[in-house]
Amino acid sequence: MRRVIYPGTFDPVTNGHIDIVKRAIDLFDEVVVTVAKNPAKTSMFTVEERVEMLRKSLDEFPNVIVDWFDGLVVDHAKALGAVGIIRGLRAISDFEYEFQMALMNRKLSAGLKTIFLMPHEKYTYLNSTIIRNLAQFKSDISEFVPEAVAEKLKAKFQS
Ligand code: ADP
Repeated sequence: MRRVIYPGTFDPVTNGHIDIVKRAIDLFDEVVVTVAKNPAKTSMFTVEERVEMLRKSLDEFPNVIVDWFDGLVVDHAKALGAVGIIRGLRAISDFEYEFQMALMNRKLSAGLKTIFLMPHEKYTYLNSTIIRNLAQFKSDISEFVPEAVAEKLKAKFQS
């Protein structure tokens, strides 16, 4: 059973994230999508809300599990018996940070591999920050996010 972990902030999950999860499912037996409680980032949604949106968006995939953690990704990956960490690469701009993280994680846990997957090119410009900004100004974001996220954002910003 080859299990991988896909960690991220997911504030909120977008169709770009979902695209990466689907690619990971094609390669591995089980994908654990993990919401990271990152103290360095202030988030719009609580961890519980982010987990709920992910669960609703991924409930059609039986071999996907959604959880959250507060700590080092490598520790969580080890506790789950994961063989690797999935990360998405959109553009060169992602590369430097992702490269540093991957090498540090390898240093912390030599056996754990980082696997980079590229989304469909239509998602390369998509990120959670842009979605949050558009939603605040009541722009229609339904083509960029799963239905559960579009509903949640609409409810949050409807006055
Ligand atoms: P983090 O704060 O860990 O970067 P994110 O939720 O922003 O959390 O992203 C989690 C992972 O998903 C990262 O590897 C990021 O590069 C990737 N990712 C984010 N948006 C997209 C997208 N539109 N297409 C593909 N990968 C993405």
